[in-house]
Amino acid sequence: LYTLFYIAASGNEQNAGTFERNFNTAGGAQESRFVGGAQTIALRVASQLGRRVVLNAPVRRIVQSSSGVTVVTDGFSATAQRVIVAIPPTLAGRIDYDPPMPPLRDQLIQHMPQGTLMKFEAIYDTPFWRAQGLSGQAVSEIGPIKVTFDTSPADGSFGILMGFIGGHEARVWENRSADERRAAALQNLANYFGNAALNPREVVEFNWSAEVWNRGCPVAVLGPGTLIDFGTALRTPVGRIHWAGTETSTFWNGYMDGAVRSGERAAQEVLAAL
Ligand SMILES: Cc1cc2nc3c(=O)[nH]c(=O)nc-3n(C[C@H](O)[C@H](O)[C@H](O)COP(=O)(O)OP(=O)(O)OC[C@H]3O[C@@H](n4cnc5c(N)ncnc54)[C@H](O)[C@@H]3O)c2cc1C
Repeated sequence: LYTLFYIAASGNEQNAGTFERNFNTAGGAQESRFVGGAQTIALRVASQLGRRVVLNAPVRRIVQSSSGVTVVTDGFSATAQRVIVAIPPTLAGRIDYDPPMPPLRDQLIQHMPQGTLMKFEAIYDTPFWRAQGLSGQAVSEIGPIKVTFDTSPADGSFGILMGFIGGHEARVWENRSADERRAAALQNLANYFGNAALNPREVVEFNWSAEVWNRGCPVAVLGPGTLIDFGTALRTPVGRIHWAGTETSTFWNGYMDGAVRSGERAAQEVLAAL
């Protein structure tokens, strides 16, 4: 059911979701990239909000009372009428709630682990594969890199092949040395795009499961029965606490689009409640 939901969620108000829309470049989720990187969205929003954004202050505890809700960090506390928790479910489950979460909500979170994904990027003097008429996009059954994209800069001044090492492959290869991963990953790229791929200028890799404020990516992955047995707790506010984050979105769940949609939905909930 979750797989069907995820496919359907790659639609929107006008278009039905399809399997292909999740990874297609033309007309799909991988069509556009942000000049300067996706983080520019957060950076620009933060610059507009100014001092209202507090960094390096992870929320440890949320305490509700009849008059308000207090969010507790290591250095300070903030009290409000309502709070929106917009973080991956497994991280929401690491916050200490007083009073504790209702059992259904707590058990839902116990059933929403993050996916396992590493990102590997090989940087070349030129996007050499384009001269051969190749897109830089590959899907393979042979790992560690089973999916690739051309993530070169828009001006093509140098070339980048990005590969995902995901799921079982990531769990195996994260325990190998960086040199072993590099050799195996570059061999994958050479198989897809030719031997020029064996000689990058530089490689960069990142293991998202090792990132403590993420714990895996690109989204929480739900096993069989989770939506049916626990799904009603996904967006239901608990007292003064509202839930956002891409995992709560009905469209583009697991994507930035879904994260924005969820924020708008949660903000409307709060406005209606105030
Ligand atoms: C490798 C990779 C590739 C991806 N590719 C794409 C793509 O091509 N297109 C796309 O649309 N999406 C992509 N995604 C998914 C996209 O990044 C997510 O859907 C999106 O970031 C989710 O946004 P969010 O606001 O729900 O959560 P997040 O982006 O996870 O934001 C949560 C924030 O809360 C912070 N936080 C966590 N815990 C606490 C705490 N206790 N107190 C305070 N702050 C806390 C975190 O540091 C983080 O800044 C990708 C993700 C990964 C990892």
